[in-house]
Amino acid sequence: MNQQNKQDIEHFDVLVVGAGISGIDAGYHLRTAFPGKSFVLLENQDSFGGTWLTHNYPGIRSDSDLFTFGYKWKPWTGVPIATAEEILKYLDEVLDEQDLRKHIRYQHTVTTASWSNEDKLWTLQVKHGDTNETKTFSGNFLWMCQGYYNHDRGYVPEWPGMQSFQGDIVHPQTWPDELDYTDKNVLVIGSGATAATLIPAMASDCKHITMLQRSPTYFAPAPNRNELADQLRNLDVPHEWTHEIVRRQILNDQKEITRRSFEEPEALKTELIDAARQYLGSEYDVEKHFTPSYRPWRQRLAFIPDGDLFQGIAAGQASVVTDEIDTFTERGVLTKSGQLLEADIIVTATGFDLCILGGIEFRIDGEPLNFAESWTYRGIMYSDIPNMAWVFGYFRASWTLRADLIAEFVCRLFNHMEENNSRVVTPRLRDEDQNMPALPFVDPDNFNPGYLMRSMHLMPKQGDNEPWVFKQDYYTEKDELPQADLDDGALIFE
Ligand SMILES: Cc1cc2nc3c(=O)[nH]c(=O)nc-3n(C[C@H](O)[C@H](O)[C@H](O)COP(=O)(O)OP(=O)(O)OC[C@H]3O[C@@H](n4cnc5c(N)ncnc54)[C@H](O)[C@@H]3O)c2cc1C
Repeated sequence: MNQQNKQDIEHFDVLVVGAGISGIDAGYHLRTAFPGKSFVLLENQDSFGGTWLTHNYPGIRSDSDLFTFGYKWKPWTGVPIATAEEILKYLDEVLDEQDLRKHIRYQHTVTTASWSNEDKLWTLQVKHGDTNETKTFSGNFLWMCQGYYNHDRGYVPEWPGMQSFQGDIVHPQTWPDELDYTDKNVLVIGSGATAATLIPAMASDCKHITMLQRSPTYFAPAPNRNELADQLRNLDVPHEWTHEIVRRQILNDQKEITRRSFEEPEALKTELIDAARQYLGSEYDVEKHFTPSYRPWRQRLAFIPDGDLFQGIAAGQASVVTDEIDTFTERGVLTKSGQLLEADIIVTATGFDLCILGGIEFRIDGEPLNFAESWTYRGIMYSDIPNMAWVFGYFRASWTLRADLIAEFVCRLFNHMEENNSRVVTPRLRDEDQNMPALPFVDPDNFNPGYLMRSMHLMPKQGDNEPWVFKQDYYTEKDELPQADLDDGALIFE
């Protein structure tokens, strides 16, 4: 790095990419645990919130409860399932309370990240939105909080005849503000959490709304309230206590559901399907439309507050078709069984496009990084990539539970490095790890949504022994990560 260049570079101890839930969590932990460290959050959007800013389709809300999706350290005071607006308000309060605003740079898109072993630094090239100028940042540690999917566009399969359709085709991720669906026939392709959110929010305004699904999904209807939280609040118990007690209650209940999904999947399946039947009545073909072939929780269980999706169907405002698309036509979609589903608007609720490492081009000492060749260290760091952590949350439990655990782990790592006077930490396979089988980043037998399956070959590998495994299990990791031995030889400190 020559003298001229150095003057143009802004340096921070820690560079955080993203100002969504995970980036803000990283900021909180850095500020609290290391008041002396400098850090910056580089965010390509105009504001904070990530997922909750990107998505603005009708009804957008969480499908996790906010007692566990909220931070461990900031009480949630609302109902369990929250709208995007409520989540953004919660994060807005965090930015004020934790004095984090001054650390965020908006419209800063990180395009390249280069590690130099000589300088022991990351150098980032960053495109600044306002002026399109390129800025350079350097930092000792790179904390990747960029999420896991492409924020610019969602995933839309190519179906035959799409061009011939005369109406609007919209993806929930890029919902046009001006879209008017009043008294229109709307066809929603897909039956995941997004479809389950959109349909009840739109049903009363549309002429009719139809959910077209290739195969059914499990839905868990329940009231959007937590009785224990209500009781504690009525007793004027401090919000911090209520938050912690209700978190423990919810985590305990979820642990039980997870156990049952593995040990007694049939009984759990029957309960979920019976719950649908209660809303839809005995005449409804629950067998065909709401009985999935997979084990509960192999994909995220879609929670529906107060059974709102089922209520829309029972009221005749919404309906479900379980069939495959043969072709789009001028007026709608023709299914493989020959049904023509007429529509003015087609919503493709077909999911995300996985985006690995925020679309950033990585180099280590000038060599392009092939991320798929690296092994994950506990689903946090990656072999032969120095001073870098990536926050990848849970699928089944709330993402934030893992963001918090990772933040605590990274802070412990920083303390360890300070105690040992080291500037660089690199996960590296030990002799005994050399012949590990290369297993997929996420075990497809355990969790297999489409967006992951489509891109798994681009993700790092995991092995079959510690610490080269990514457990995706909060109940194991909450005890293991805080105790993880940093001196087991898999982390090389220099
Ligand atoms: C509609 C929807 C609902 C969801 N509901 C839940 C839920 O209820 N519970 C749950 O646990 N999970 C849920 N998830 C998963 C959700 O993405 C995470 O829970 C969480 O919000 C992710 O936070 P994050 O900060 O890690 O990433 P994100 O929210 O994805 O934020 C990352 C930020 O980094 C920015 N960024 C990316 N690349 C770059 C770059 N190169 N340079 C600069 N900035 C960059 C992005 O623009 C974005 O603002 C949901 C996801 C979606 C899409």
